[in-house]
This record gives sequence, structure tokens and C-alpha cells, in this order.
Amino acid sequence: MTDCGCEKARRDLEEYLRNEVCKTQHTDIAEHLENCAGCRDEALVARTLTEVVARACKETAPEELRDQVLAKLRAVQATH
Ligand SMILES: [Zn+2]
Repeated sequence: MTDCGCEKARRDLEEYLRNEVCKTQHTDIAEHLENCAGCRDEALVARTLTEVVARACKETAPEELRDQVLAKLRAVQATH
């Protein structure tokens, strides 16, 4: 198993979710997420945040909602 490690996975997570990383990194991170529950949670929250913000931006851009999501994100991160 060529696990890339939590540090790298989390550093590249944002790019990974935007599919902007190269294929090798992408594979490394996908593999890490499969084997690491902590980073998988992180990825799920980050993906949800991205989707919620994207959806919110199509309508209005409610600062309140954004703050709520960010607070939730920090709460999840704090548990790791
Ligand atoms: Zn990890």
C-alpha cells in the first residue's frame, strides 16, 4: 500500500475535490481516503461545503448559511 499520508491528503483535498490535481496525486489521495476514516470525513465535509456554497451562490449568497457551514466544518476538524 502506498499511502500518501494524512498531511498530504488534507493539503491536496481541496484540489482533489475540484479535480485539479494530476492523475497520480488523485489516485494517491483516493487510496488514502479509502483507508483513512478521518480524512474521509474531512473530504465529505469539504465536498458538502463546496456543494452547499455552490448552490447558495446560484440563489443568493447568504453569509449566515456560509458561517453555519464553516462552523460545522471547524467542529468536525476539531474532533480529529
Ligand atoms: Zn488520513
